[in-house]
Amino acid sequence: MTGQQHIVVIGAGQAAAQFISAYRQRGGESKITLVGDELDLPYQRPPLSKAYLKGEFDADRLSFKPQSFYDDSMAVCLLGEPAASINREQKVVTMTSGKTLPYDVLVLATGSRPRPLPSLPTSYDNVFSLRTRAESNELGAALSTAKHLTVIGGGFIGLEVAAISRSRDIPVTLLERADRLLARVTSPLVSDFFTRLHRRHGVNVHLSAEISEVRTDGNRVTHLALGDGQVIDTDIILVGIGGIANDELAKGAGVNCQDGIVVDDLGATNDPAIFAAGDCTRRPVPSGDLLRIESVYNAKEQADQIACHLTGSPSPVVDTPWFWSDQYDVKLQTAGLFNGYDEALPRGETDDAPFSVLYFKDERLIAADCLNDGPMFMTAKQILKTGAVIPKADLIDPAVPLKEIMAKAKAAG
Ligand SMILES: Cc1cc2nc3c(=O)[nH]c(=O)nc-3n(C[C@H](O)[C@H](O)[C@H](O)COP(=O)(O)OP(=O)(O)OC[C@H]3O[C@@H](n4cnc5c(N)ncnc54)[C@H](O)[C@@H]3O)c2cc1C
Repeated sequence: MTGQQHIVVIGAGQAAAQFISAYRQRGGESKITLVGDELDLPYQRPPLSKAYLKGEFDADRLSFKPQSFYDDSMAVCLLGEPAASINREQKVVTMTSGKTLPYDVLVLATGSRPRPLPSLPTSYDNVFSLRTRAESNELGAALSTAKHLTVIGGGFIGLEVAAISRSRDIPVTLLERADRLLARVTSPLVSDFFTRLHRRHGVNVHLSAEISEVRTDGNRVTHLALGDGQVIDTDIILVGIGGIANDELAKGAGVNCQDGIVVDDLGATNDPAIFAAGDCTRRPVPSGDLLRIESVYNAKEQADQIACHLTGSPSPVVDTPWFWSDQYDVKLQTAGLFNGYDEALPRGETDDAPFSVLYFKDERLIAADCLNDGPMFMTAKQILKTGAVIPKADLIDPAVPLKEIMAKAKAAG
């Protein structure tokens, strides 16, 4: 698409900021309007459960770009304006305020929201979820006087908040319904490592935990009774049980959605005028599956793809998927997607970091979880990028120097 048309971007987050920047960098000339329901300009969410929550990251560093960037990019920002519906026939978006915006191209970047736990809604005074800057501020304030934290859900956000709380000596109980932590995103080897890590730091980790009763006093939850008869005395509670794609706007307009807006490699939906990027999408991955991927990498890659497509630029070099998490003194760095692996093997001793867990399918490396193991992370990224075939035996043998493997991986590119 070239020339003066109107692109409306709905959702002012990671994908939106990346799209605007990539589109202008590639010479895109269309008028852009950015519509966001939050009052903030697009900001980073990862620090909200890490350095920002700890108080070690200034609020003004959260924004990707200052207002002047959007002014210079000739992107009009309509913030605090939730979009309510899309009329695809007339190509018009209507806000909840009643305002309407005609578009030639629509980019949906509406993200995801925390999955609610019906028995523990955040309408209780002491129950929190964590997605926005405002929620991180509220949780941070509550933690500053907390006598105890109960985390519901052993996913990354819950574990990161548990680690920060323990660093402040706040007693933490963690309730996970599955029989291991991080069950949806990693292998048992890595789950077991994180269970041991948190227990070593004093977190009371309950696996296969079922909440059988929520006891309250006024608008506060005071106790959680578990299926095994234990009763947790609660002070503050964080519910972190995963995310739900914000795909209702698209669904309401008849855009193809399957728990997420279905897009192709270019971020295109089944409507040629509508694209989508980031947490709100369900996208194809090399294994052939359609996945929802909630990560910075995914939001950036899809936004870049759409920008390239709309400006007629060559497709960006596709980065290897990556992710990270910080807990205590451990940094997990993940390269690739482990879905569909047939073997998970450690490189190094899994008792303590550094070590890595490598995922193979048909003898080929498809992903790596690296714990305080930056060199293996970089090597895995390179192998996955160039498609180098490195013998499994070499990859899992710490005696084989990574420099050698890296050289082979580079040579394959
Ligand atoms: C606490 C936390 C920690 C994280 N840590 C990591 C990490 O360590 N590594 C990593 O890779 N990823 C991490 N993530 C995930 C990462 O932040 C997301 O994948 C990324 O923000 C997705 O970008 P997005 O643009 O799709 O969505 P978002 O950044 O969420 O932006 C979507 C925006 O759209 C708005 N919106 C929704 N509906 C409407 C509407 N109808 N009208 C107008 N606006 C609307 C939303 O309110 C939101 O502001 C973390 C996320 C959280 C919450």
